[in-house]
Amino acid sequence: MVHRVLCVGRVLCVDCVVPGEPFLQNLEPIILSVRKSFSLSQKDRYRLYTRSEELSQELREKAIFMRVARTFDDPFLQSGSNKVKAQDFTLAPWEPNLTDGPTSSRFAVVDYNSDDEVLVAPAKWHESGSDFSAENELQRDQVSIWALLQRALDTFQHGSALGRVIPWGFEGSRLILVPHAGYDRNAYYDRESKSLQFYYYSNDDNGSIEYTCRSMHIVAHEFGHAILDGIRPRLYESVAIESNAFHEFFGDLTALLVCLQDRNIRQRTAIKANGDFESASEFQELAARLGEALLDRPYLRSFKNKSTMKKLSGSTSHHDLSEVLSGAIFDILEKIGSKISKRSTKRPKTPKEIFWNATNTIRGLTLQSLDLLPPVDISFRDYAFAICSWHKFCNPGDSNQLLNILGMTFKSRGIFDIQDVESLRISQDKLLETHGDVTNPIAQSFERLMYRPIRLELNRNIEQVMESPESAYRLLDDNREQLLIPLHCDLQVIDLYETFKFNSANEPLGTQYVLQYLWRQDVQLIGSRFAQFEAKRTVMLCGGTLVFDQVGNILSWSAKPGSEPYSSRSGSTGRKAKFWKFALACGKARRKALLDDLARQIADGQVGKLIQSPLGMLGKDIPSLLAKTMPDGSIEFQRSPHGHLRSQTTNPDLLGQRTWEISF
Ligand SMILES: [Zn+2]
Repeated sequence: MVHRVLCVGRVLCVDCVVPGEPFLQNLEPIILSVRKSFSLSQKDRYRLYTRSEELSQELREKAIFMRVARTFDDPFLQSGSNKVKAQDFTLAPWEPNLTDGPTSSRFAVVDYNSDDEVLVAPAKWHESGSDFSAENELQRDQVSIWALLQRALDTFQHGSALGRVIPWGFEGSRLILVPHAGYDRNAYYDRESKSLQFYYYSNDDNGSIEYTCRSMHIVAHEFGHAILDGIRPRLYESVAIESNAFHEFFGDLTALLVCLQDRNIRQRTAIKANGDFESASEFQELAARLGEALLDRPYLRSFKNKSTMKKLSGSTSHHDLSEVLSGAIFDILEKIGSKISKRSTKRPKTPKEIFWNATNTIRGLTLQSLDLLPPVDISFRDYAFAICSWHKFCNPGDSNQLLNILGMTFKSRGIFDIQDVESLRISQDKLLETHGDVTNPIAQSFERLMYRPIRLELNRNIEQVMESPESAYRLLDDNREQLLIPLHCDLQVIDLYETFKFNSANEPLGTQYVLQYLWRQDVQLIGSRFAQFEAKRTVMLCGGTLVFDQVGNILSWSAKPGSEPYSSRSGSTGRKAKFWKFALACGKARRKALLDDLARQIADGQVGKLIQSPLGMLGKDIPSLLAKTMPDGSIEFQRSPHGHLRSQTTNPDLLGQRTWEISF
């Protein structure tokens, strides 16, 4: 029966499934055996779609994904002297209810040009052919960016990455994509307008128009900001320069992962570079055209750099600082690739296999570890510890000897010190025992105790904890002292979710539950270095993240303590008291760093007020850090979606005295 149906018009339907046998088991080999294109009946497509998590990637791509034309023109996508496009389509996941725009469940393209005040007509969806028709260049851009991000979101939500549906950092289900937002050398993510905005500008050399929405790197980078804002929204309230640099790093990491994930780009580069990431310039240099336009060099930022924390100490540039972490991650990717190529197996790995295996490993390390991070003030060192801990969780025996590579690479960039590297191999108990031992340098840092399992004194079963934020709050309240939460502070559960992740061998890691909480501590701004904010009050966000396994064991705890003691009563003694002492030292250091970072940014003219355009979208001039006066008179600072590069600011009183940086 199967053979007959396949022979007739290559239309697969439920009838081709042997009666009485499970749908997928029968359909998968049939679909995979069909080499040429085929179509599914709508009923079968729906059935496959609703069970897509059970399907192999190959089957999903073949049965549910759409081939969508794209308009990206990054130089790395062109090959050979005749500049032939290496690949001109994206495989994007189909879903029900696609409509004009394109509009899907999580994205809506709204092609509004704020300079001309023109709304470009949307590309049309054709249900019968399951595709979008684009009648002009602008509509082709609409479809192109939608398809790239529809695919990228699918990749980030897959079990080999975050393993859950990723929320946006704003209310609503759709991120608005504005491909031709106006004339400017910029692109940005803006939470307020729930959008990614891509501008265009004139090329100084030949007068041609360059569209930022035609750069795969730029589109993916801005999407990275939206993803990180969805999973760690409180980073937007951070004045810490490193936290903001982490946001920029994550944008660049997203650009790298989107390119690595693209089969044609990856395979073509793998062959050209002979399986060596060091020679793969395609993956190293970001946003070539914008780099040429703004900085007169063939990239805006590079993963192949020599930046270190020491070299950039004192910098207030989020973008410059982000290169330290980007450089470290690319070094790790290179070393993973080289390790795979040297692995002794019967048959040497091909360049394509080396790149694919390394892509799998780096995606897992960099994305799956995000769930371990605290909800506030993420430093590069936090992320380095989270990556190492995640690796230890997935590979407790370190069979691929990656731990040393990770530790030493982070050390070479000044993110880790040697004691951090050594602490990776020491058990939690051993570290706790040595805390307070001033002669032991490993024991002198609170952060080294984080990203590790703990056991709470008053536990509850995981079903109770996950029932609701209120029930999770009870677990936190019961264990305030152990979790370093001062008795008097008002505590808030800010996220509660579960993940379903796979390891690099595609084996399920079991359900994990993540609980994030925070509280606020008042901080006075005393001294003339705070300029217009002198004598005002702001807040330091404190909080933590607990990750549980499916039976309720805590796999990881990370915390950002405050500088206030547990209570005014004389507290516990012994190990608990010692732990609080370390936490308070960390909290005081955080408070000092917050004040210093704020003062540096004020001195650098990076702090100002929000100026909104009448259309609700942001104006072009906006400071890096926005200051908002709250009803109680305190000041709340918030990261802005973008800065603006221009020779002179239009209103120095509001914007400070310097030229803003490009947001990308
Ligand atoms: Zn950015």
